[in-house]
Amino acid sequence: MTKPTVGVVGAGVIGAGVAQDLAQRGFRPILVDVSEAALDAARERIRTSVSAACLFARSKPADPPDEIFARVSATTRYDALSGVDFVIENATEDVEIKRPIYEMLDAVCPKDCVLIANTSCIPITRLASFTKWPARVIGIHFMNPVPMMHTVEMVPGVETSGRTIDKAKGLMEQLGKTCIVVKDSPGFVSNRILMLAINEAVRVLEEGVADAESVDGIFKSCFGHPMGPLETADLIGLDTVLLSLEVLRDSFDDAKYQPCRLLKEMVAEGRLGRKSGAGFHPYS
Ligand code: NAD
Repeated sequence: MTKPTVGVVGAGVIGAGVAQDLAQRGFRPILVDVSEAALDAARERIRTSVSAACLFARSKPADPPDEIFARVSATTRYDALSGVDFVIENATEDVEIKRPIYEMLDAVCPKDCVLIANTSCIPITRLASFTKWPARVIGIHFMNPVPMMHTVEMVPGVETSGRTIDKAKGLMEQLGKTCIVVKDSPGFVSNRILMLAINEAVRVLEEGVADAESVDGIFKSCFGHPMGPLETADLIGLDTVLLSLEVLRDSFDDAKYQPCRLLKEMVAEGRLGRKSGAGFHPYS
């Protein structure tokens, strides 16, 4: 089967993972970011992760690492997306950053291009309202690290067409992903629940009830979770966790999502988790 062409907007933690997964599956993703530094860092991360996958993954990619890496192109130019079949949007979790991106995609991409929003918490119908063709917008919440996680949360917006859903499901099939479809609502299912748990875990730490090792250890050893909530937050990125909680708080108008003090302090200090080398745990 011929592979569709896919643009990946946003080359941060999750965008780099999406591009890597596409390349490992034989696609030629076009990675677009406004920041050259972000593109350089993404290229570096993809090269390292592809090499590691070829050596250590349980199901190894079919092709050699150099061949896989060469499939990824990276640019700051949106007009590189003029011929794509799909765009997967992974820019910063902020409506005011995402709004002009959807307007830009309307101007640049073919009219039948499907726009996939990989947002953590922003309702898909809201993002779709920024385009002239909301029927072609759908939410797919990829899990991190993308190449290793084989299930996605699929979120049609109010106006998403059946044709868009079918096309998005077809792409996920080619990526070996199972889709769990849920209704459009802030944070969907995953992050509406997960972000509350993470915020409360940080609050436990803030109050000195337990240290980070103990908090995560309880979830791993007592509940059998592969990672604790603080390790999960480090993997996601604490800045993205903070933005997600703010989206949830504002969308539901509910103070239970108010980000706790320690989380805000850590983000202000640049302790963002794995991506900055330190968060609740060290990574260098
Ligand atoms: P990140 O901060 O690591 O990366 C965001 C990237 O977006 C940055 O490289 C930034 O330069 C880029 N960007 C900003 N404005 C842009 C623009 N106008 N055009 C193109 N690129 C632009 O964030 P992230 O963790 O990768 O999250 C990105 C999106 O994916 C968010 O909506 C987030 O909620 C969602 N998400 C994150 C995860 C995760 O585990 N981190 C998982 C699923 C979904």
